[in-house]
Amino acid sequence: MPIDASLPYDEANIFAKILRGEVPCNKVYEDEHAFAFHDINPLAPIHVLVIPRGAYVSWDDFTLKAGDEEIAGFVRAVGEVARMTGASAQGYRLLANIGKRGGQEVPHLHVHLFGGAPLGPMLSR
Ligand code: 5GP
Repeated sequence: MPIDASLPYDEANIFAKILRGEVPCNKVYEDEHAFAFHDINPLAPIHVLVIPRGAYVSWDDFTLKAGDEEIAGFVRAVGEVARMTGASAQGYRLLANIGKRGGQEVPHLHVHLFGGAPLGPMLSR
């Protein structure tokens, strides 16, 4: 079920548990500001989730509350993951689902990085 992204951050969400090491994941990358791991239900040969370490629900929440260094760190981490996974060589897609209409299911901001194959049209018609 898509979540209401205007709700306060829920410390019990699955990505918060992954960040705290309470739930295992297949880690790809981590640094001071960001953490990246393979999606449990991949929709492309490369499907990695990149998340900020901070407690942010949505893109708007993140950009209102996070500091410049944190925002820059997160954006750089997405690029790093694109290079590390090999996705950048042939092109890839970034996607952030936000809130109910965006179809967001996990209430911790995340960017999907898809690659490894032609990805088709941007949205189904
Ligand atoms: P959303 O729809 O919120 O943009 O995407 C949430 C993503 O998180 C989905 O692609 C789903 O497969 C992934 N996901 C949900 N729970 C887990 C989990 O426990 N571990 C991992 N690695 N991915 C998860």
